[in-house]
Amino acid sequence: MSKSETSPKIQTTIETGDEAPRDAPLSQEETIIETRDVDVHYGDDQALNGVSMDIAEHHVTALIGPSGCGKSTFLRCLNRMNDMIDVCQVDGDVVFNGTNVYDDDVDPVALRRKIGIVFQKPNPFPKSIRENVAYGLKIQGYDGDVDARVEESLKRAALWDEVNDQLDTSGLDLSGGQQQRLCIARAIAPDPEVILMDEPTSALDPIAASKIEDLIDDLATEYTVVIVTHNMQQAARISDRTAVFLTGGRLVEYDDTTTIFEDPDEQRVEDYITGKFG
Ligand code: ADP
Repeated sequence: MSKSETSPKIQTTIETGDEAPRDAPLSQEETIIETRDVDVHYGDDQALNGVSMDIAEHHVTALIGPSGCGKSTFLRCLNRMNDMIDVCQVDGDVVFNGTNVYDDDVDPVALRRKIGIVFQKPNPFPKSIRENVAYGLKIQGYDGDVDARVEESLKRAALWDEVNDQLDTSGLDLSGGQQQRLCIARAIAPDPEVILMDEPTSALDPIAASKIEDLIDDLATEYTVVIVTHNMQQAARISDRTAVFLTGGRLVEYDDTTTIFEDPDEQRVEDYITGKFG
């Protein structure tokens, strides 16, 4: 069964130029993160403009659009990674499991254990494979069986079979694709609910990239995945839903992936998908 056949219509409140916002039902229990009117400024420059979007639990949501339209900025809003950028100002709500992650009493470090992130360039620590995966557990004072959690995380990241006899060698000695799966294992270890991925395959060769794509498909059975990709074929292959950002930091269309790629509402989305610009 294709992903789209299993995807209910998603709820969207989308800026569509002169038209009224388009709303379609998505039952509440399927939404794990809800953003409302998210604006982001870097100093005087606005990077996101009124982004409202419901992210469905246990699905893969792809964020696509031309470079500079705010996809990574939006991704980083979801687990407050933008807090690390001094000039960055986020307004609006990002509600995760009923709590606004920007509330004063939310601990961003604890939040990032629940909403992990994997970046474009694999960035293992200069430590052993075991220590890379156990890193987050140590910080949180995990008092369970660390080795068991390391093994489980490496298995979930489809890396265990390749590294189980070399857990004490440096993570930096692995290939690029293995390093990226190590970073995914590191994100998995603290038992997140959501995994954010910012162009996770763009620094990898096609075979390594294809392994990560297969892995993302598996991960969605247990986690919610939100992925920024500049590769439209990748979005079409791996995602259930696709959000299209265009210039001005606006979300212009968000729907199940098949609809976005085969029958988008917006002409400018069709133009982008068919390569007329961007
Ligand atoms: P995308 O992921 O779609 O390529 P980004 O979110 O990276 O877009 O960038 C959106 C806009 O925000 C761009 O104009 C970019 O230059 C700006 N921007 C992104 N990160 C920063 C930053 N750390 N400081 C200042 N401006 C930034």
